[in-house]
Amino acid sequence: MNLPSTLGELRKSTFTEKKLRARRVKDELRENLLARLRDGHEIFPGLVGYDDTVVPQIVNAVLSRHNFILLGLRGQAKSRILRALTALLDESTPYIAGCEIRDNPYDPICQRCRELIREKGEATPIAYLSRDQRYVEKLATPDVTIADLIGDIDPIKAAKTGHELGSELTMHYGLLPRANRGIFAINELPDLAGKIQVGLFNIMQEGDIQIKGYPIRMPVDVALVFSANPEDYTARGKIVTPLKDRIGSEIRTHYPANIEEGILITAQEAWVDRDGFKMHIPAYIQEVVEQIAFVAREDKRIDKRSGVSQRLPISAMENVISNAERRAVLERSDLVVPRVADIYSALPAITGKLELEYEGEMKGADTVAREVIRGAIARTFDRYFGSNDLKQVVQWFELGGEIQMNDSSKTSELIQQMTSIQGLLEKIDKVGIADDPPDELKVSAAEFILEGLHAHKRIGRSEERVFTAGEKQAKKSERDYQAEEIADQWEQRRRNRRPFN
Ligand SMILES: [Zn+2]
Repeated sequence: MNLPSTLGELRKSTFTEKKLRARRVKDELRENLLARLRDGHEIFPGLVGYDDTVVPQIVNAVLSRHNFILLGLRGQAKSRILRALTALLDESTPYIAGCEIRDNPYDPICQRCRELIREKGEATPIAYLSRDQRYVEKLATPDVTIADLIGDIDPIKAAKTGHELGSELTMHYGLLPRANRGIFAINELPDLAGKIQVGLFNIMQEGDIQIKGYPIRMPVDVALVFSANPEDYTARGKIVTPLKDRIGSEIRTHYPANIEEGILITAQEAWVDRDGFKMHIPAYIQEVVEQIAFVAREDKRIDKRSGVSQRLPISAMENVISNAERRAVLERSDLVVPRVADIYSALPAITGKLELEYEGEMKGADTVAREVIRGAIARTFDRYFGSNDLKQVVQWFELGGEIQMNDSSKTSELIQQMTSIQGLLEKIDKVGIADDPPDELKVSAAEFILEGLHAHKRIGRSEERVFTAGEKQAKKSERDYQAEEIADQWEQRRRNRRPFN
């Protein structure tokens, strides 16, 4: 498409002065949103589980031309929603070429552009902004300054250009004026220092900015959107009241309401398709991975205020697949079928995403994560085998049977051993796999049954992944002893600590 390249051409194009001169970003968002609603377009494609809750509230906020805030825990797609707002912007937006604050050609607010138009008139060069260029995002931290956000005097610029230090032309613009005519998103708003919040409030109140030391005000045009953890936001003194008062809508996000929604999100976000491999991810593996997040969110050893991010199942799934992929390579196979053992191998993708409470810290992230996985297996197992009779399998172990199932155990060897466990392979059709599945899938399904029985303490399993009879007979590993010893020492130290004064 040939876009007009001068102010004169622009005037005669569809980007008329009548249309653009007074049109603010929030008007533009509103207009484009209305058009989408009329066409029956999906507003936020790919946003799962928010259709009846979050999306209608965002729609209302945009229609109301509000600045708004999303309140939610970690990993509830807050940044994703804010970024998705760019889809409601015009495809391309003309501005005065070379302007640092992307001035409206019909109503420039900076001195440089006003002088340029005086000098060049209709020949003033025009450039265009894409949607993405009109989105500016800032993670709030306590060290963000007014200079970062709004701007400052730039002595070097003054020296280079020969302008006086007090001249507007020597300003260094901060992020906010640079977001002029776009969306400005601030994540974790309560982390901004009070003084900066007051600065923001002024912008929202007056609709313009004042740069330190300059006598000028600039009516910047931005849609301000924020995100915050709900507890931080509502805690007294974290947000200056007048700022809160100026935020038009407060919208609460949430975690997926059920496993199915979680699975959809993870399937959409996780990197699953690996070149050169055939992927077969059994449904129960997807469910266990997803249940980890659900179980963790209920676990009292895990911090409720920071939550358990949806990124946990996403990263875990990627790690699970990689472990299965590694096994496939070693077996010189191109079929990748994850097993429950691969989920335990995904601990590195899990532990870092759990913020532990004191009690959890005492136990250690690894132990807590393993127990959470085990809980997730138990729940998933119940969905498939609720009241199903697996006594025969349990008995085989009680009669002294043992089987080792490493995540790297060879499929062909395992299938042979499993055939000897009476009643085991007969049950794998319960987990929803098709008739006559490949051996990899049979092994994975049978292992899931054994892991399920172990999760319910009906059979035991050692650190070396040897399944045996009941857990009480399973020996404690060296590692368990060490963990207990450390916990005891901590407890001792805590008791010995004298209170101050
Ligand atoms: Zn300008």
